[in-house]
Amino acid sequence: MIPIFSQSISKYNKTLANINKKYEILKNYSDQELKQEANKLKNTNFNKDIILVDAFAVLKEVIYRTLDITLFNVQILGGIILNQNNIAEMKTGEGKTLVALLPAYLNCLQGKGVHIVTVNDYLVERDAHLANKVFSYIDIKVGMITQKTNSTNRKFEYEKDITYITNSELGFDYLKDNMAIHKHDIVQREFYYAIIDEVDSILIDEARTPLIISGITEVKPKLYNKARDISDILTNTIDYKVDEKSKSIILTEKGINNCEGILQIKNLYDVNSPWIKYIINALKAKELFLNNKDYIVKNNQLIIVDEFTGRIMEGRRWSDGLHQSLEAKENIPIEPENKTLASITYQNLFLLYQNLAGMTGTAKTEENEFSNIYKINVTTVPTNQECIRKDLSDFVYKNEYNKWEAIANECSDMYKTGRPTLIGTTSIEKSELLSTMLRKINIPHKLLNAKPENVSKEAEIISQAGEKKAITISTNMAGRGTDIILGGNPEKRATAIIEKYISDKEINTEEKIINKNEILFLNKINKFNNINIKQEIENNTLKDSNAILNTIYIKILEKCKNYSKKEKQEILQLGGLYVIGTERHESRRIDNQLRGRSGRQGDKGSSRFFLSLQDNLFRIFGGNKIENIITKLNINDKIPIESILLTKSLNSAQKKVEAYFYDIRKQLYDYDEVINNQRKAIYNERKKILNSQFTKECILEYAEYTIEEMLTIYLQKNKDNNILKQIIKLLNIKCNIMSLAKMNIYEIKEYLHEQIRISYDLKETYLEQLRPGLIRQLEKYYLLQQIDQAWQQHIDKINLLKEYIGWRSYGQQDPLIEYKNEAFHLFINMIMYIRQTVIYLVMRSRLIVDL
Ligand code: ADP
Ligand code: MG
Repeated sequence: MIPIFSQSISKYNKTLANINKKYEILKNYSDQELKQEANKLKNTNFNKDIILVDAFAVLKEVIYRTLDITLFNVQILGGIILNQNNIAEMKTGEGKTLVALLPAYLNCLQGKGVHIVTVNDYLVERDAHLANKVFSYIDIKVGMITQKTNSTNRKFEYEKDITYITNSELGFDYLKDNMAIHKHDIVQREFYYAIIDEVDSILIDEARTPLIISGITEVKPKLYNKARDISDILTNTIDYKVDEKSKSIILTEKGINNCEGILQIKNLYDVNSPWIKYIINALKAKELFLNNKDYIVKNNQLIIVDEFTGRIMEGRRWSDGLHQSLEAKENIPIEPENKTLASITYQNLFLLYQNLAGMTGTAKTEENEFSNIYKINVTTVPTNQECIRKDLSDFVYKNEYNKWEAIANECSDMYKTGRPTLIGTTSIEKSELLSTMLRKINIPHKLLNAKPENVSKEAEIISQAGEKKAITISTNMAGRGTDIILGGNPEKRATAIIEKYISDKEINTEEKIINKNEILFLNKINKFNNINIKQEIENNTLKDSNAILNTIYIKILEKCKNYSKKEKQEILQLGGLYVIGTERHESRRIDNQLRGRSGRQGDKGSSRFFLSLQDNLFRIFGGNKIENIITKLNINDKIPIESILLTKSLNSAQKKVEAYFYDIRKQLYDYDEVINNQRKAIYNERKKILNSQFTKECILEYAEYTIEEMLTIYLQKNKDNNILKQIIKLLNIKCNIMSLAKMNIYEIKEYLHEQIRISYDLKETYLEQLRPGLIRQLEKYYLLQQIDQAWQQHIDKINLLKEYIGWRSYGQQDPLIEYKNEAFHLFINMIMYIRQTVIYLVMRSRLIVDL
């Protein structure tokens, strides 16, 4: 039976029906026949639209045979949407992990590789493992890359049909590949098709922070010290203005003149002059950062003090030279700074794919952003079972203290009835605050805070957050990708029991007597089952302890399943999972993520946000309006306010925040687009050189360009002979300037082109005799080395330029346009510089060899 879907997706009904029709046929196939059917698909050159029905039907049956799961129609629909390079919005618990297998399968048949991108290593391992169970049946190779994968294996894993990987590993490999000196160091293939899981997390929440590969550079203490001396001469409000709120400094016209005077330079804002960054940092150090408040000095080291907690943060450093400026201010040794060697934002990384698709529970609210920036549409897929979760109206308290008190009381009530409750917090500090409050009133609970090292442990805890009496406090990111099953996850529960048994055993290996731990443990087992592990082991005739444990595991699992089932019924009676939000997030999307933890697969459940008027979001974006409403209502501190007017104001404050962050991301994108195009050009040139057998042509091309560029200057400077001298010197050719100067410009050009070819051929013959093949290696080496060096310097300049743009005022001009113009000039200069230095070096390579 085919459900009637809403208009936007009803167009897929026919395809869906065809897939199911084919699936009915495949059901009767033997294993052998089904595998043959899959093989047929592999060896076709069909266009993927033609084989979609067959491929999806085959995989549906393979999934059934390997996992004992029958895909729902909505899952197939999700697969079709992903295959069309769209975002499929499917709620938590709808089974997106399996959905991704359908388009991954279809697209990997093209032989160009498919990437499935997830947010952390734990999910990469979990999902790759599942996919492998399915795909090994039809001989499709599944690869996986985590932080642990070494570079030889990386290449191998990228060669697989389908590769699971995190966004950050993917990005770093991309950057590293584009810094490779040898062709065989490159690990990635061309980007063909990617499916991004939790796509909103990656493309929206993480879009603001670029991936950076950095190296350490030499420090320049002189610059820092000089800038400090200048900052001591300059006077506040006359030479510069301080903005405490945004922690920024702006030089006045007078200040700029003063600096230029002291340094004896013409333009402080010239990108080729390093000074402005040092001076601004020195002024920040002077005015905005105080010893023993913002930092302390201990053993000649400057240590940051956390502004919220007052704790000292050993080992952390402020970036972009600020830390060094403070070291200069305190007259202690200046430590090296980090330098960006390569960087890219996720936005631009994923735009490199020929085809891009994504899935998540929450995308519709950011639909415009996805379509404007990434050119992908969002399609909402209905849930398999109707969602009956109740999203209750907000409770708003006057102050924050009352809010947390109310939340703690609510947790206590839930704990007493046994209803599982998940409390989402916006920061680690807040979750710790609530945890302390709960501890005081003796409410057992679990605390999760999304630190990378806790990811897999958190997934365990989250999967048990649906058990009776479970109270779980979690920051938004914790346990991502793991769904909460009412009554708990029986597999995890059974494994935990066994693991506990084993680890207790290991601690007490020598003890024959049943110890306290074991009694507790056995009691726990007995609670569901009457299995006595000790007895089992003693009675068991199997010798192999693994086999014994396995039989016991199966027994325990059976019991756990029954137990979970019974518990789920009880919990449903109590109302299902209860989700408490403790603050509105910076977008409705993240609120929805939290709510979506409850009510999976048609389960009962509810959610409620507890807010206070002192919450950051309302304080900063709410304005007076909200306060006015409160004063008018004149209410008791302890009683929550439920007012439509108030809710409306809160919603509009939240929308303001959404718009604010969207603007920041858009701005980042606009600015980044400039460097992105330049990056693409440089990486392409690099790739061309790396793959080329004919680098000689490239060198000669560089030489010819250089000749032309310099001759243009020659004409501009009224045929200044000095320019000709420069050309001759750069090209390292012998030639009479006077006779050259007599020729017209075309003749000069022809002549120089000819000379450089002759001179290069001679050099080649000479070097070939000396060591065959050497010249090609040298060419490649010089080309790549010069490109990389120039590009890194260019990144520095562009970063600086971006900062200047903020510091300078442009009157009516759009700073973005100014930025684009200047960035373009810098790029052109860099290209010229690369060509010239390569020619210079290559034409002198004889010296190096002779040494
Ligand atoms: P999502 O990523 O959409 O939140 P998951 O892929 O993590 O969901 O799947 C949630 C759970 O649902 C998993 O335990 C999975 O095995 C189960 N599941 C997925 N598809 C089906 C199905 N068609 N029938 C039954 N269970 C399913
Ligand atoms: Mg998922």
